[in-house]
Amino acid sequence: MSTRSEEQLRADIVEAGRRLYARAYVASNDGNISARLDDSRLLTTPKSVSKGFMTPDMMVIVDYDGKKLSGDRDASSELPMHLEIYRNRPDVNAVVHAHPPIATGFAVAGIPLTRAVLAEVVTTLGSIPIAEYGTPSTAELPEAVRKYIKAHDGLLLANHGAVTCCRSVMTAYYKMETIEHFAKISLVARLLGREHVFSRDEVERLQGLRGMYGIAAPAPLCADTDVGAADQVLCQVLEAPESSSRLVPDVGAALQQASRDGEIRLTYAELTALIADAVKNLRD
Ligand SMILES: [Zn+2]
Repeated sequence: MSTRSEEQLRADIVEAGRRLYARAYVASNDGNISARLDDSRLLTTPKSVSKGFMTPDMMVIVDYDGKKLSGDRDASSELPMHLEIYRNRPDVNAVVHAHPPIATGFAVAGIPLTRAVLAEVVTTLGSIPIAEYGTPSTAELPEAVRKYIKAHDGLLLANHGAVTCCRSVMTAYYKMETIEHFAKISLVARLLGREHVFSRDEVERLQGLRGMYGIAAPAPLCADTDVGAADQVLCQVLEAPESSSRLVPDVGAALQQASRDGEIRLTYAELTALIADAVKNLRD
């Protein structure tokens, strides 16, 4: 349980909201943030307010069933998603939801951020899967989040945005920053047409460093990568090959070549990697 006072928590939520808006992770009145006050009460952002311009007195206090206990305004309609996260994660004290544009682009394209390519992402978040689409403000969204949240501190929400959780408001906010930064770098690497993926050994070495930085991992890596049918996922799928390094095919260069002479040339290894990727995306 966080030891921060209610006053500090209100200030932290205002600051996290200001940063979400300043970095354009939300538009208009989008997004919401919440934090545990104690075992029976949560502090959360109000609906219909820009998260960039909140004041500490605007926050709403609710119980863990979502019933309003105090505050001049009403809580966000996405509160049930937050409640679902707190129910499943007793270690979590804060939840941040936003629509950061590049990560949300991946969520719209149906491409999860599950490749092991950046050391700090492997260490802090591991993999970032996509929770299936649920209509916002309905029970579908918390249900979709429930499947993955025990094993992940950060999720993409299909055709919607992203959600993160952690031990404090600011650490949950930083995880949102990490997701958007990771999405941006992944997009650039894929536009350039190449992505070097860490080996499984390197991933295990990186995750072994977590203790040194005081990072609590929500779940171990899955032995089996097919978790699609599970009711609740309890491990992380991270794309990291057994061999030392895999090069995701240089499709961009092949397409450029194609525009010159109407032909796509791939090596055998590039072709098989491309087919393996396509099959995996179909399964997902
Ligand atoms: Zn939203």
